[in-house]
Amino acid sequence: VKKKAASYAKQADNVEQTAVLGAGIMGGGIAYQSASKGTPIIMKDIQGDAIELGLKEARKLFAKQIERKKLTVEQMAEKLSNIRPTLSYGDFGNVDLVVEAVVENPKVKGAVLAEVEEQVGESTILTSNTSTISISRLAQNLKRPENFCGMHFFNPVHRMPLVEVIRGEKTSDAAVAATVAYARAMGKTPIVVNDCPGFLVNRVLFPYFGGFSFLVEQGADFQRVDKVMEKFGWPMGPAYLLDVVGMDTAVHANEVMAEGFPERMARDSKTAIQVMFDDDRLGQKNAKGFYAYE
Ligand code: NAD
Repeated sequence: VKKKAASYAKQADNVEQTAVLGAGIMGGGIAYQSASKGTPIIMKDIQGDAIELGLKEARKLFAKQIERKKLTVEQMAEKLSNIRPTLSYGDFGNVDLVVEAVVENPKVKGAVLAEVEEQVGESTILTSNTSTISISRLAQNLKRPENFCGMHFFNPVHRMPLVEVIRGEKTSDAAVAATVAYARAMGKTPIVVNDCPGFLVNRVLFPYFGGFSFLVEQGADFQRVDKVMEKFGWPMGPAYLLDVVGMDTAVHANEVMAEGFPERMARDSKTAIQVMFDDDRLGQKNAKGFYAYE
């Protein structure tokens, strides 16, 4: 056992150069977090504008650290230089671990994972930040499925401590160990979970959203529910959290959960969340959800 543990630790130590595919909300956040903790990361997107936005977001977060006197201007420059933005696979030969964070579409993700597998070394670990797609299903696109697992961050990446490391049917222990070690190096708390719809967090969160939605459908005032849940001790209530998550994301994730657990999760077209979505009240992303935003 000791020998095995030592070999995992070695594998984990080998995560020195990383890459993230997609420079969106999550990819940009992952690049910032990795860079701020000192692990170099290549940030690849297919759109120059996305790269610019990802970098702008990282600069903004570093600037906040300067304001709070947690970082000097020199330190910021050094940390920012850990992020290497690119539109090509040029330097992927030396990457130890990749986080795929492109759009939540199984076809796009499958194609991107197969594409990046051709660019990296045989021992490179590939991970996906998917919120809902089965890891074993995504692994079907790969030649080396043992090197692949889920690495599910939460939004906003720099503030949310948890990372779900998802083990697919063929994921090796070494891939899990390397991913856990990288999450720790990023200052996160990893938990290893099995592959199932919703993984762990969303299996708890979505029934909670369902309960909230039911209350609203029965006439409850959502602002009061939020206040009550805050008093209960949660950092924010369900209506506000749904605005952060986005009604589109919530409806999509709920469908995946209902498909996976039909006996437990309702698939009702008249839930308060569905009504909000149909009314184009997506939440903070389009400035109108349960609450209105500037
Ligand atoms: P986003 O739309 O903000 O960003 C996706 C980025 O991927 C875009 O910049 C797009 O240009 C880029 N992209 C598309 N195809 C690409 C390709 N072939 N190569 C490289 N880049 C490509 O999306 P997001 O919210 O950051 O979500 C990304 C992933 O993270 C999704 O799988 C999502 O389910 C998951 N996730 C999102 C959240 C969230 O709250 N937003 C939370 C956890 C996990």
